[in-house]
Amino acid sequence: MPFSKAVDSRIILTRLRETLAEPGEGQERLDRIVRLISNGIVAEVCSVYLKRDSDWLELCATQGLNPDSVHQTRLRLGQGLVGRIAERAEPLNTADAAHTTGFRFIPETGEEVYSSFLGVPIQRLGEVLGVLVIQNREARVYSDDVVYALEVVAMVIAEMAELGAFIGPGPMQIARQHQGPFFARGLVGQEGVAIGHVVLHEPNIVVSQPISEDPEQECARLKAAIEALRAEVDEMLDADYLTMSGEHREVLHAYRMFANDKGWVRRIEESIQSGLAAEVAVEKEQSATRSRMMRVSDPYLRERLHDLDDLSNRLLRLLAGLDQNNGRDIPDDAILVARNIGPAELLDYGRKLRGVVLEEGSVGSHAAIVARALAIPLIIHADRITREAQNGDFILVDGDQGTVHLRPEDTVTQAFREKIEMLAEAQEEYAALRDQVAETLDGERICLQMNAGLMADLPSLPKCGAEGVGLFRTELQFLVRSTVPKRADLAALYDRILNAAGEKPVVFRTLDIGSDKVLPYMKRPEEPNPALGWRAIRVGLDRKGVMRMQLQALIRGAKGRPLHVMFPFVAETGEFAAAREIFTSVLDREAGLGHRLPSTVRIGAMLETPSLAFAPDSFFELTDFVSIGGNDLKQFFFAADRENELVRRRYDTLNLSFLTFIEHIVKRCEAHGKPLSFCGEDAGRPLEALVLVAIGLRNLSMRPASIGPVKALLRQVDLGELRAVIAASRERCDACLRPALEEWLNAKGIVVPA
Ligand code: PEP
Ligand code: MG
Repeated sequence: MPFSKAVDSRIILTRLRETLAEPGEGQERLDRIVRLISNGIVAEVCSVYLKRDSDWLELCATQGLNPDSVHQTRLRLGQGLVGRIAERAEPLNTADAAHTTGFRFIPETGEEVYSSFLGVPIQRLGEVLGVLVIQNREARVYSDDVVYALEVVAMVIAEMAELGAFIGPGPMQIARQHQGPFFARGLVGQEGVAIGHVVLHEPNIVVSQPISEDPEQECARLKAAIEALRAEVDEMLDADYLTMSGEHREVLHAYRMFANDKGWVRRIEESIQSGLAAEVAVEKEQSATRSRMMRVSDPYLRERLHDLDDLSNRLLRLLAGLDQNNGRDIPDDAILVARNIGPAELLDYGRKLRGVVLEEGSVGSHAAIVARALAIPLIIHADRITREAQNGDFILVDGDQGTVHLRPEDTVTQAFREKIEMLAEAQEEYAALRDQVAETLDGERICLQMNAGLMADLPSLPKCGAEGVGLFRTELQFLVRSTVPKRADLAALYDRILNAAGEKPVVFRTLDIGSDKVLPYMKRPEEPNPALGWRAIRVGLDRKGVMRMQLQALIRGAKGRPLHVMFPFVAETGEFAAAREIFTSVLDREAGLGHRLPSTVRIGAMLETPSLAFAPDSFFELTDFVSIGGNDLKQFFFAADRENELVRRRYDTLNLSFLTFIEHIVKRCEAHGKPLSFCGEDAGRPLEALVLVAIGLRNLSMRPASIGPVKALLRQVDLGELRAVIAASRERCDACLRPALEEWLNAKGIVVPA
């Protein structure tokens, strides 16, 4: 039978506000809180347990239990009823504590005489900071009113903990949040290292007055913010309603549904009526969503809960009158920390960023492409980083290892600085090589080019010593806009790029969308396997308007200079022939219109599907050059998704079957006298680059920072000797060349650049 006494959480909160306003140290505050709750709820026991670290909870204040057990009683997460509440982030309400699963007898507290037990997590935005417990001798289940009141009080305690209200001398240091070092091991999105200060993409909202004096006024604030939120969502939907499809629209529809969900709004209003400030009331709902998210395994439902979480963040920002950080007032050494970020938003921050750390993200995401273009380290899947990081925190980002040190110890910082110095020294050595040719000891001359995708990349061209741009990915200009870019704008951009490149050639790859690169304004079918689906040249040939427009822009942008264009993801001769024909017809039309034509035109194909390596001779006759898109080619060769963390590192590029396949492509191009290059990420990895050169590649295109290391290694190696190593490895039927290669380099004392 539940306790029937109705509890008015508003009265408790009013008293709590008065109590918190009184001066005192953290311990005194907590002691007053437990007394107040025990009186207000008529509980014989009220205790607060706070997290000492990620594993342990400590009894920090109690009314009713043995006072000597304060700061003595500790429980591991998951241990005892209190530990289970913290672990599951769920309340526990029982009439018979001693016989409830998980109960653990703690003799020093003297709690064995209390039968009924109610504990609620003290949590902020899904992060459990502690547990608030009440107990009574009489064996009864607590009423919903009591549970609710305790949850509301726990919200206030959580907010106060965030503000540092319980920090005090001695044992009360434990209540200090987000002050100590935090380490996260994520995944490498883009190599490089950076030191700087955190800029949160979505600033944390800290509420200084978690309890409101005037619920009506708070409700009015909430109402205004919800109206603004609904208008924002409607605007987003209307803006692109006709053109948008698939996932984007689904997300916005989910937003709209939640924003109009009466239950969601009503629960927030109820919390406000019980005395919470509007922001805290929203956070209370958000915490509940996040703990639900932890338990849901269905991916669709998780995504929708994520959407609701995003929506709550928007609502919080509207309530607090905050904008997303827009890159204007950020420090010079900013490291952006976000759950996830789109390419346009990331570009807005632009050059001000030294690094990016994401809690989610993927290596092939657009954000990763932008990070690559900005040449800044990117860490993805850095668990909990957005919860731990505070604006302005000192942070070290190691994009080579995929690790993040937040608020690091001095010794860690020192070691990190030393690493940066060493890398800087290496970079200086590479800079000295800038004007040297990439030539092996036995006189093989290799052309090293760079990959680019933004105007911002072009200044790297003279700096890194690349001989040209071997791959200019043109999709970013399409991805960062909400509508198709205008032909004149594209032509102007291509013109600026060619100007910046000067005498050096630039190979423009036509729009490569589909698979992971989805244009927000383009209707797309739902595809079961997008990487094998309607993408790149397939889209171009089926929607010729965009392809023609881009080719016109390229021709006009060339302004009489040489033009190099390549089509991505060609799987058979017919596709390439059709694309080439479209180019010719566009060229003829431009001539007819009196536009200046490029001085020379070279049209190539990217070889990214195994089928093209076995295309009829007519394909090799028809193309002016071939560029191996190793990222895609490798994923199709091994049937291993380049985006799937479970398999993407499973197969080595130096696997001899793959190398044999590449050799086959080299031979076919040689037989037809067609230039061949390699522009996947492997071209920028020194060992892989070395082997590609040994098997016949003479042109590699890579990110600018890789030119130095690759050149440095090539200049120390005799390709004849290396070919003998490869031949011996084949003789032995090795699966992979890497061990033999490393052994050979070791024996020669050649250090492979990082
Ligand atoms: C590739 O597939 O290797 C390539 C260069 O294209 P992208 O990485 O843009 O798909
Ligand atoms: Mg590709």
